[in-house]
Amino acid sequence: MKSPVTQPASPTVRTRIAPSPTGDPHIGNMYVALVNWAFARQSGGQFVVRIEDTDRTRFVEGAEAMFLRSLDWLGLDHDEGPDTGGPCGPYRQSERLPLYREHVDRLIAGGHAYRCFCTPERLKAVRQKATGEMTGYDRQCRTLPPEESARRAAAGEPHTVRLAVPLEGQTQFEDGLRGAITIEHKSVDDQVLLKSDGYPTYHLGVVVDDHLMGVTHVIRAEEWIVSTPKHVLLYQAFGWDVPRYYHMPLIRNPDRSKLSKRKNPTNVMWYRQQGFLPEAVVNYLGMLGHSMPDQREVFTREEFMREFSWQRVTTTGPVFDMEKFEWLNGEWIRRLPVETLTARLKSEGFWPAGLPEDKAQAIVGLMRERMRRLTEFSDAVAFFAARLPYEAALLVPDKKGKPIMTATETRTALSRLKEAYAAFAPEPDAEASGDSLSSQWQAAALEASGRALADELGWKPGEFFTPLRVAITCRRVSTPLFETMEILGREECLARMDEAIEKAKTLA
Ligand code: GLU
Repeated sequence: MKSPVTQPASPTVRTRIAPSPTGDPHIGNMYVALVNWAFARQSGGQFVVRIEDTDRTRFVEGAEAMFLRSLDWLGLDHDEGPDTGGPCGPYRQSERLPLYREHVDRLIAGGHAYRCFCTPERLKAVRQKATGEMTGYDRQCRTLPPEESARRAAAGEPHTVRLAVPLEGQTQFEDGLRGAITIEHKSVDDQVLLKSDGYPTYHLGVVVDDHLMGVTHVIRAEEWIVSTPKHVLLYQAFGWDVPRYYHMPLIRNPDRSKLSKRKNPTNVMWYRQQGFLPEAVVNYLGMLGHSMPDQREVFTREEFMREFSWQRVTTTGPVFDMEKFEWLNGEWIRRLPVETLTARLKSEGFWPAGLPEDKAQAIVGLMRERMRRLTEFSDAVAFFAARLPYEAALLVPDKKGKPIMTATETRTALSRLKEAYAAFAPEPDAEASGDSLSSQWQAAALEASGRALADELGWKPGEFFTPLRVAITCRRVSTPLFETMEILGREECLARMDEAIEKAKTLA
């Protein structure tokens, strides 16, 4: 084990995210990570990742790697961590056990902590009997003579180490978002600091590590506020400076309960699999409980980093709004250059097999305007890759399920359209000009010709184009018809119309 180094000399801002590897990377954790990252970067400081893996019963293999991948996906780069190393390592608490032991010994020697030899059975009985303000441990071992305590420990008797919370008075700390918070010592339990397996509890680990890692600003979720007085007591017992605290509001479900996977997906990787862009995830998280100075809703990670201000953080829990999140994702999809979007669709596995490469950019360009998630792409453009099966009846336009063309009218519509489009020149010709342009295979000309025909035959264009849309895209709902026809090309479109005409022959 690498020997841990003492505090870094530099007094610059140092923030950290300290995930416990107990499951999937939680979106709420990414939210807190984003704020830590932004604040460190805007202050020219450092952002550290520390893995709090001391609860061995809840440890999940692979959770750490997944967390780091999520940070990476969102572009929240860290300066120090279990993967990058750094001057304050190791960055996994399970690799720092001797340190906690050493620090706890210092607390015992100074009378700030004591060994507790109570058995789990006794503790359970105490808890059941507890009344009044003190609902925790009854402090029986607090009065053991130090020599007896040391002798029993030396003899190998199992024990924990507890914080000796002052019996009187109160502890106060400043929360950067909420002001002064005061807690009566009477209401604080003699918290376990070191468990009988030699692992620290969260309270000891977090204080020792935040201090040794030089963390200047502890930015974490609101749910940790109740733990902070215990941490402050520990800082005081060690004689260390207390860091600044900021407790971020908890993200809530629409019914204001704490964001939970029963109501909303909370695994950040789920959003990736569902075709959310990292730009949109960062942007959305940056909107939760924080507003930009000009109230702008669409912003980049860097803009958020520059503009982030504690003054504009609210302490009321922001509500997670999936509708808004998807809207924002659509905004970000539209903002990506076509080449970038194409590359993303491919690298994220949303590219359907067989999509013609030479038409890729044009197809992406069409879809870019109408997607909210990347997952929509593949289904919506599948017809470009191959002719998809459909029933002849789909060719017949209807209103509320009632056909508005007869079989004969549908066949006439299709063959007249085919005839009109067969008269078009093969491909658009950049050199051409004047009259000849109108008969070139381009969306505007294709549409004009279709409309003229609808007029001649006395149909509303919307109704008239249904057989054509189905012939070309094999679906009733599709990308804009004439732009689609332009991309698909004359030969393929005529062939599809022929196929539709054949199919329509089977209509009764
Ligand atoms: N390990 C804690 C967690 O899982 C860290 C809390 C803190 O930031 O102090 O969130």
